[in-house]
This record gives sequence, C-alpha cells and structure tokens, in this order.
Amino acid sequence: MDFNKLPKTELHLHLDCSISYDAVRKMNPDISQEYYNQNFISPAKCRTLGEYIKGALEGIKLMQTRKNLSLVTDDLFKQLKKDNVIYAEIRFAPLLHTQGDLNPEEVVSVVEEAVFHAVSGYGIEARLILCTLRHFTAEQSLETVKLVQLFRNSLVAGFDLAGDEAGFPLDNHIAAFEYAMENSIFCTAHAGEARGPESIQEIIKNPAVTRIGHGVRCAEKPELMKIIKERGIHLEICPTSNVQSNVYDEYRDHPVKKLFDYGISAGINTDARTLSHISLSEEYRKLAEVFGWTASDFYAANVNALNAAFLPEQLKLKLKKRFESEMNNI
Ligand SMILES: [Zn+2]
Repeated sequence: MDFNKLPKTELHLHLDCSISYDAVRKMNPDISQEYYNQNFISPAKCRTLGEYIKGALEGIKLMQTRKNLSLVTDDLFKQLKKDNVIYAEIRFAPLLHTQGDLNPEEVVSVVEEAVFHAVSGYGIEARLILCTLRHFTAEQSLETVKLVQLFRNSLVAGFDLAGDEAGFPLDNHIAAFEYAMENSIFCTAHAGEARGPESIQEIIKNPAVTRIGHGVRCAEKPELMKIIKERGIHLEICPTSNVQSNVYDEYRDHPVKKLFDYGISAGINTDARTLSHISLSEEYRKLAEVFGWTASDFYAANVNALNAAFLPEQLKLKLKKRFESEMNNI
C-alpha cells in the first residue's frame, strides 16, 4: 500500500510542535540541523509527558511575530500536502505567542489569515482549534475560550485543553468549559494520556466535550469504554506520541486496535510532527506493520474523524465525497 497516497483527515495536530528544519532555518539561520535534531525533536523515549512537550518551547520562541506565525503555518501545510491530508484541524495556544508585539487577538487573526490562504493555495480544507493549557490560570483559560467565540465566524472552530495533565488539575478550566457549553462551542480536551481513566471521567462531565485528545487510557476501564462508545465521543488517537511520552512501553502495547475493535469512534493523528519526528503516512505504515491494518481500517478511521470534525454537516458531506473518490482511485 502506498501510504502517502491514502487520503487522510487529521484532527489532532499542534502548530508549534510541527515545524520543519527548513522553516526554522528561515526564521533563524543560526540554528543548525544538529541543534534542531537535539532540541526541537523530543527524545525517542521520554520519561514523562512533561519531558516530551519540552521540545515545543523552541518552536514557541520563534513564533512571536506575524511573519514567523505565517511562515510556520504555511510550512505545516507543505507537510500536510505531502501526506495527502484533505482535512486538518490545527491547534495552538494564542496566549503563548504574545512575547513580542502581538496581542492574543492579533495572534489568532494572523494564523487564521495564513490558514485561509493555505486552504486555497494547497487545496486542503482546514480549521483552527484554540488551546488553553493545564498550567494556565482560570482567567487565561476564559480569555482563550472567549477568543474562540470572538472568531466564531472565521476558520476558528473549537476549543481544547492541552499541556501536562499529570502536573495540573482541571479546576482552573471548569469555567472555560462551562462558557463553551453556554455558547455552543465545539470542544475537545487532552485527557487519559499521562493520567488514567479518572482524567477522562472528569472532563466528559461537561457535555460540550465531544472529543478527547488521546483518551486511550479508557482502555483500562471497561465501564468507561462503554460510556465513550454510547455517547459517541471521538478519540483523537496518536500512537507514536503515546509511546514516546512513555504512556506505553512499545508500539505493540498500544490499545488502538482494542479501542477500534470495541467500536469506539477513533481516528489516527501525529499530535506533534516535529517532536515525534513523524508524518501521518509513517504512522499509518506502523499501524499496518504492527497491527496488520489494511485499507478498510484506514477507511474507517478517516470516516470516524470526518464525522467528528468541527464542521457544518454540509462540508463534512463534501469532504466525505472527496475522500471516497480518492480512496477509489488508489
Ligand atoms: Zn496533543
């Protein structure tokens, strides 16, 4: 199977964790390939999620100007094109990009405009998800969800809670998720990755959360798997990222097949293309190699993801048609 040619949907993808060396070099010619390999790409095996996401700090340092935010966005679309991604939801935390002259509103506006141009330039449909982070205060979290509301008629489509779930509780973010529910904002949240099933149980108390970033540790609790299946909650699964951040020892230990076989809606994602040094095509190749996935499994994963996309129904239908026709032509 030519994994590059398979049409793909990717719902879980961090902008600041997916910068190619080519783009880094353009932003700062003093950064060598060697430095990039050691500092932008996370170690193949990290001890914790906290260690894994440290690599993002290097990218964030560079993403503080209009020019660089646009450049990084365009760079990501080049990578998506190579992977034949037909629909992507790209996420980032606007409050992390205000170390220069930009305020949070300007940050969102710059990235949204860059995505708008890339959508037509690369022929890839896309939306943005704005992230709050576990270590943020309640005020910062509310400020972020209010940005989603402010930009709701643009390509900004949803709200996410990211960062280190093991180090910080949900408390500071409850009000933000309540605000999202009151304003019918699409929500996803990182949970059930560094922390176990209890972290998933906690976040799905808010009905606005229709997807979970990772959520794979629900596999440890059959009652929770049942709830997730019955409520149709979609899991954005990123197998390589989970192995790298030490949630699982090896790829073959990952419950991705168990969750799919049980009938939970789940899709396949890279999470962080640079930190994990991976493309989505490579992730598909690993699934085929380790779990024997075939075209029908990839078909199901992509249909699940398109159904769970933060998009109006009509656009989902259009994308599903494109997906079907590209699948039939492989
Ligand atoms: Zn993530």
